[in-house]
Amino acid sequence: MHSKMKKKNKNKNKNKNNKRRAVACAACNCFGKDCPQDCPFAPYFPAHDPQRFAVVHKIFGANNFEDVMKDVPKIKRAEAVEDMVNDAKMRERDGIDGLRDPSVIDNVLPLYECHLKQQVDTMVALVDAGKTALQRLRNGAIRGKPTRR
Ligand SMILES: [Zn+2]
Repeated sequence: MHSKMKKKNKNKNKNKNNKRRAVACAACNCFGKDCPQDCPFAPYFPAHDPQRFAVVHKIFGANNFEDVMKDVPKIKRAEAVEDMVNDAKMRERDGIDGLRDPSVIDNVLPLYECHLKQQVDTMVALVDAGKTALQRLRNGAIRGKPTRR
């Protein structure tokens, strides 16, 4: 009884596999192809979130991703996909140009501000010293210059 039901379901799935999905997944959308019922990407890359697939494709390549998925047991796939998506997002963010990472700017900006502040402090000190020197000169000039006539 039990095995009979299983067989029936299996056949049902087999027939389904020949059809394409009404809404293509993000991966098939990206490649502009029909999304089959057994599409390896469809469960993890819904059509409404194309960015999720785009970043994985950009960083790992869809073919590599598919290969990895084949090696991962089905029960672990959702988890593995999540890891890969997060990893791809991180790599994309840190990218070749480290400054694209906002945290890098957060780290560099205070240093730059500190450097500028030091320069301003130096300038202020120089101006102050100049003022003092000028004042001394004036005082000296007034005192040292006898009104000879
Ligand atoms: Zn698909």
